[in-house]
Amino acid sequence: MAGIRYNVKMALKYDLHSHSTASDGTLAPAALVARAAEAGIDALALTDHDTTDGMEEAWDEARRRGIELIPGVEVSVTWKGRVVHVVGLRIDPDNRVLQRGLARLRDFREWRAEEIARRLHQSGISGAYEGARAFARKGLISRTHFARFLVREGRARDERQVFKHFLVAGKPGHVKGEWADLAEAVSWIRGAGGEAVIAHPARYRLTRTRLRRLIKEFTQAGGVALEVVSGSHSRDDYFTMARHANDWGLRASAGSDYHGPEKPWIELGRLPPLPEICVPIWRDWDMRRDAAMA
Ligand code: AMP
Ligand code: MN
Ligand code: MN
Ligand code: MN
Repeated sequence: MAGIRYNVKMALKYDLHSHSTASDGTLAPAALVARAAEAGIDALALTDHDTTDGMEEAWDEARRRGIELIPGVEVSVTWKGRVVHVVGLRIDPDNRVLQRGLARLRDFREWRAEEIARRLHQSGISGAYEGARAFARKGLISRTHFARFLVREGRARDERQVFKHFLVAGKPGHVKGEWADLAEAVSWIRGAGGEAVIAHPARYRLTRTRLRRLIKEFTQAGGVALEVVSGSHSRDDYFTMARHANDWGLRASAGSDYHGPEKPWIELGRLPPLPEICVPIWRDWDMRRDAAMA
C-alpha cells in the first residue's frame, strides 16, 4: 500500500568475530569481506589473532562493497595458567602501545612455533616448522598451521584430532603459553579507543566460580562485553552467558569466529539473534560516524 512510513529502524546484521590469512583464517582479507557482503552482513569485525595486518586490505574491499568494516583484534591472554581470548572492537590499529603489545605476542608465537617443532621432532615428526610456516605464508604462525601440516602428513584425520593428540597439554607438541595478562590486554584495547570483549566464554570450560572470577577481573580492568552468541557456543551457552553478562552489567557481542570455508558448520553472519535480555554492544554505535572515521 502506498504511503506507508516505516519508522522502525531495520536491524543491522552484525558479525563481530572473524579471521583472515593475516592469522589462521584461510580467506584473504578482501575475500573475507566479499563473502561477508554476499552473506548480507552490514557490519563485519576483522579480529585476527594478535595482529591487525589484514585491516587495510579489508577496509578497501569494505568500501568497494559498501559494508562496514570494524577494526578489531583477538588478543591471546594467559589467565591463571589458561589461555583466554579477548576481542577488541573499534580499535585504532595505529595505536603504538597496542601494536607494541601485539608485536610481543607475535614474537612469542615465533619462539613457540620453533619449540613446538623441536618437540614434534623428538617424537619422530620432522619438518614441522617449515611445514606450518608454508601454511601460514606471510601471516603469523599459529597452532592451526601446525594442525593443517599434520593432517596433510597423514598424522591425524582432521584438525580437531591433531589438537587432541599433539597440541594440547600433555601431548608431544604442547608448549605452555606466555601471552598477555588479562588487565594488560584490556588496557591495550582501551588505550586504542576500543571496547574489550571476552571471546567465546563458554569454550574455556571454567567452573561457574572460576568464570565469575574471570568476568569480575575483566570488568574491573575496564572490559565491557561478553561474546554471548558465538559460532563455538551451544544454544544453552547463549542463555548462560547472557545471564552472566547481565549480572555484571556487561553488554553482549555476537560473532561467528569464522576461519574459512573449510569449516562449513561455521558461516559468516549465520548467527541467531542475541537473547532478548541482552544489551547489544552495538546499541549506541553510530555506524555512519564510524564509516566517516574509516
Ligand atoms: P594458537 O593461538 O596458535 O594457540 O591457536 C589457537 C587456534 O587454534 C584457535 O584460534 C582455533 O582457531 C584453533 N583451535 C584451538 N583448539 C582447536 C581444536 N580443538 N580444534 C581445532 N582448532 C582448534
Ligand atoms: Mn583461530
Ligand atoms: Mn578464540
Ligand atoms: Mn577467533
